[in-house]
Amino acid sequence: METGLDGKIVLVTGAAQGIGRATATAFAKEGARVCLIDIDVHALEEVQSELRAIGTNVCIAQADLSTAEGVTSGIDTALKSYNGQVDILVNNVGSGKVRTFDDLSDQDWDFTMNLNFMSYVRTCRYLLPRLRARENAVIINNASDLARQPEPVPIDYSASKAAVLALTKGLARAEAPKIRVNAVAPGPVWTPFWTKEGGFAETMGKFHGMEPREAVEHELSLRQLPLKRLGTPEEVANVIVFLSSDLASFVTSAVWGVDGGSIRSLI
Ligand code: NAD
Repeated sequence: METGLDGKIVLVTGAAQGIGRATATAFAKEGARVCLIDIDVHALEEVQSELRAIGTNVCIAQADLSTAEGVTSGIDTALKSYNGQVDILVNNVGSGKVRTFDDLSDQDWDFTMNLNFMSYVRTCRYLLPRLRARENAVIINNASDLARQPEPVPIDYSASKAAVLALTKGLARAEAPKIRVNAVAPGPVWTPFWTKEGGFAETMGKFHGMEPREAVEHELSLRQLPLKRLGTPEEVANVIVFLSSDLASFVTSAVWGVDGGSIRSLI
């Protein structure tokens, strides 16, 4: 099947590791030109060399996407080679910490909302005029299954991701029929999000008195995830690429679960 992605200019945020990195690679394999933004310049340069080795046009920009200035300067640098033009925007950046509601200060809430939600608002605001000028433009927002089925922890993260779904649905209506806007809602996916120092896995390990990976799998067994395993970044990337492609030309305003079956509700 033809994806129609060959030669498209794709911007991915938070692209140096995890799902963003896998997404950049999956678009590259379809012949797209990829523009990548991340705060971690070393990891970003690594992805750039990896993708250049397979013949992909790759532009990178280091930026802190939790700030308004970081979003605009990151986009300006990443899209410079294409005179600012872009066909597909993948809002992927995001982070979370295991903290209870009582632990969270206003400052913590502000940080989470700025990175996980306002960065998506700001990229859309900055790029919509250009996306409107392109044929078959697409926006994909990376949310989470926790947006639709929140747990007590991390509540700030779940709230920020619920806001991402509202943004997705609202923009899908506002920008139709010119731009398709969809969200993916991954379940647990084994990436640095979990494995980094002080990340979810380490915190769960301490809580359950187990090795980090063992603790995460124990936690998942308690949640009775139908597919009984963590997902891979590539499994999310595949759905992002599909939703961005011509194969999904009648899909807009959708929230696509990539979650091993974690969501129990009908909608
Ligand atoms: P990750 O931590 O592996 O990668 C996130 C990337 O974002 C990293 O490259 C990091 O350097 C970059 N980043 C972090 N802060 C930044 C900032 N201020 N400015 C610019 N870049 C920054 O995470 P992941 O697991 O690949 O998650 C990607 C997206 O998927 C996030 O939005 C996350 O909420 C969502 N998600 C992940 C999971 C999961 O289980 N991994 C589940 C559901 C949703």
